[in-house]
Amino acid sequence: MDIITHALLGAAIAPRQELALPMAITSTIPDWWTVPPIVEYLWQHRGRFNNQDFWRWVPARYTELTRWSHSLVVLATACAVGYGIFRTSPWIFLPWLLHLIIDIPTHASSRTGYLFYPWSCWQPLGAVNWYEVWWFSIVTILSLGTVVFFRFLHQ
Ligand SMILES: [Zn+2]
Repeated sequence: MDIITHALLGAAIAPRQELALPMAITSTIPDWWTVPPIVEYLWQHRGRFNNQDFWRWVPARYTELTRWSHSLVVLATACAVGYGIFRTSPWIFLPWLLHLIIDIPTHASSRTGYLFYPWSCWQPLGAVNWYEVWWFSIVTILSLGTVVFFRFLHQ
């Protein structure tokens, strides 16, 4: 799914207002590594974006980082470190898990969803790519934005 929907979902499920922003940020962690190559690609191609060309062009270091950030192994490690050392609220990591679950049906040709990476490159794939059904992203962004607005921002 797109990164805005992930952020809004993380905020929407926050149990308290003060957790809305941290949970929105946690929800986007797996996709952080997709932003720098998009910016770099647009810079090199003077603002013109071609999806197929982009995926051939993406440097391997970004693909590798995205595989790690979409792994349940890394999420479990982050939970253990966050809770075990810093005593962070367990709620903080729920949006990261939801991100990984939602990415399964919305990525039909992803190179990122290796859930047990680096132990395994097994990859569950959905039927469609979220960016091919563009109206679905708009509907979810508007719906989740409304939920977040009335739960936390309109108080
Ligand atoms: Zn993702």
